[in-house]
Amino acid sequence: MNMILIGAQGSGKGTQAQALARELHLQPTASGDLLREAIASETPLGRAAKPYVERGDLVPDTLVVEMILDSIRSLNGAQGIILDGFPRNIAQAETLDARLLELGQAIDAVVYLDVPREQLLDRLNGRYICRAHGHVWNMKTHPPTVAGVCDYDGSDLYQRSDDQPDKIAHRLDIFFNETIHLLEYYGPQGKLIRVDGTGSIEDVHRAIRAGLDRLERLAPLKGALAPVPPQTVSLQEIAG
Ligand code: ADP
Repeated sequence: MNMILIGAQGSGKGTQAQALARELHLQPTASGDLLREAIASETPLGRAAKPYVERGDLVPDTLVVEMILDSIRSLNGAQGIILDGFPRNIAQAETLDARLLELGQAIDAVVYLDVPREQLLDRLNGRYICRAHGHVWNMKTHPPTVAGVCDYDGSDLYQRSDDQPDKIAHRLDIFFNETIHLLEYYGPQGKLIRVDGTGSIEDVHRAIRAGLDRLERLAPLKGALAPVPPQTVSLQEIAG
């Protein structure tokens, strides 16, 4: 199964992607993490992407698409991929579908984590990331046991350089003006699971799993090319 997580900055995509990847044996592919790695190792891609990431702008599609495809081609025994942060606009979604088709693959499920802008601002302002594995913590809503230290691997926590108030606002604008239109792309394909992302991490996770079960009942998710009926599954009532 191949799936996409769509959500604004701070919606909890990364946290949910890590949990789903472990449970469903999917390879997590986070475009932002891949770009930050490329920037840190000063690869040609990293050097080209750096000014865009620092401004909080989208990196040009041509650079990002090839980076994601490289990651999709090198599935190390996983049953599929879980994409976090890609696609971010309709052009990227169309290219992804076309290239997956060439590989005999398709996107089977798309989860949208719905969180209001005011709550996103609260979450992003307190966000800290673990240096070793990118686990996400929040000083207000999901603090580590010991301040500044990741519970999972003991590494230190840092604040991302693009988590400054002006850059946060700019990235949210791009999400709500551009990325949100992906719902109109995937909705009519019957692959979309809308989840209320304001609950606890466990509640959101349960709502996603319930949505996936529901999609699975409509059409088996394991067969990557299985036809999917044109219905949108809404989890608003389940997620409460
Ligand atoms: P966030 O979603 O909080 O902005 P990410 O780690 O997903 O954080 O992305 C960080 C930055 O990487 C983005 O602001 C953007 O510059 C770049 N980026 C990530 N994914 C994409 C993408 N699919 N297309 C273009 N740029 C991207």
